[in-house]
Amino acid sequence: MPGEDTRRWFADAAWLGGSELTENVAIESVGARLSSVEPGASPSGAIRLPGVVLPGLVNSHSHAFHRLLRGRTHRQGGDFWLWRQQMYRYAGALTPESYEEVATAVYIEMALAGITTVGEFHYLHHQEGGVPYTDPNEMGHALIRAARVAGIKIALLDAGYFAAGFGGAPLDSVQTRFSDGTGERWLERVDALVAAYRDDPDVSIGIAPHSVRAVPEAVMVSVAGWHDGRLPLHIHVSEQPAENLACLEATTLTPTGVLDRVGLLGPATTLVHATHVSEHDIELIAGSGATVSYCATTERDLADGLGPSAELAAAGVPLAVGSDSHAVIDLFEEMRGIELHARLAGGRRGVFAPEALLAAGTTTGSPSLGFAGNGLEIGSPADFVVIDPDSPRLRGVLGDDGLAGVLFTATATDVSAVFVGGRQVVAGGEHPGWGGARVALEGRGP
Ligand SMILES: [Zn+2]
Repeated sequence: MPGEDTRRWFADAAWLGGSELTENVAIESVGARLSSVEPGASPSGAIRLPGVVLPGLVNSHSHAFHRLLRGRTHRQGGDFWLWRQQMYRYAGALTPESYEEVATAVYIEMALAGITTVGEFHYLHHQEGGVPYTDPNEMGHALIRAARVAGIKIALLDAGYFAAGFGGAPLDSVQTRFSDGTGERWLERVDALVAAYRDDPDVSIGIAPHSVRAVPEAVMVSVAGWHDGRLPLHIHVSEQPAENLACLEATTLTPTGVLDRVGLLGPATTLVHATHVSEHDIELIAGSGATVSYCATTERDLADGLGPSAELAAAGVPLAVGSDSHAVIDLFEEMRGIELHARLAGGRRGVFAPEALLAAGTTTGSPSLGFAGNGLEIGSPADFVVIDPDSPRLRGVLGDDGLAGVLFTATATDVSAVFVGGRQVVAGGEHPGWGGARVALEGRGP
């Protein structure tokens, strides 16, 4: 478009979607999109990107405030359900102001880790008792402002939460902050978000029934009619065996079976976790075109179990990744976690090709959040990251199979530069906002 900036970079090596890295790649953008990607190019007239360039990493599942629990829940033992009680104490203490500060620091940590897009599964909407703030979307707006300050794109996946369990079990006092009371009020709130950000290229709005245990079937039916495939739809599914058992008892179906019955399985749907799904569930998911978001570091942190990633992939289900509870924020750990968990489950190595794992952390996640595909190709958003091949972890490992070397060796701290829509967000491994934002992560205990 006339008047838009043209920029040209030169990458020593880049991943263009195949099984190998490509050397000497010139990348050009006009405005926020890539206008040229040229292998075997000359560096003249371009800004050199010293390292391996990858598409921007996409974190498809985040609860920003869970970052406050990091390192604080490991001595108590117990299971997911005890951890959840600890997490609720933090949820109960946040206001729109404090949540914006915390989320800003968390999203800057993400940017520093090479994450250019986050899917924020957002359920902390209201004051205690379910009393809305003056603007019922005040918390959601705060999260979107935080992503802007960090310089990353956000899909706000607005969650509905109505019951503490099947049969309409009453909410506890913290859970009342998650609830709109009725499905109509929830959908009105989401309609207002869609209208507010309709023309914003860096914001996507999605809808997220929290789980089959927290959203009554009648509300899910009304969501299916309202949704009609037009927005990303995310939902937690079968993270815990107890959820499956309660669902079978209440409905005679698995959680995935319930989603199929109410019409919420489709290509716009992303099932988060899918750890304890059955063979029939996998058939239903594959047949619907839905994506599964695998959250390896959270699933092992919370003792959820090993999900059937190999079976899902073999059935053709696209996999994305998420750092979910932010026990760590490192998408390299999430991507290789899919393979390493499959090795533990199946006793064999090499279940996933490195390029399939890298796709899970980049190109699959982006459309599952309602954004365009983000591979390094003409027309994609100019979202990319540079990995330092000279870091203590990567020095000497990128020779024969650089892609596998990056996938199985790199960490978040090896990201040296990050670009979002052609704008540089991280340079020299530093983000200009971190110094001011970091204090928000201290002294936030409930
Ligand atoms: Zn989650």
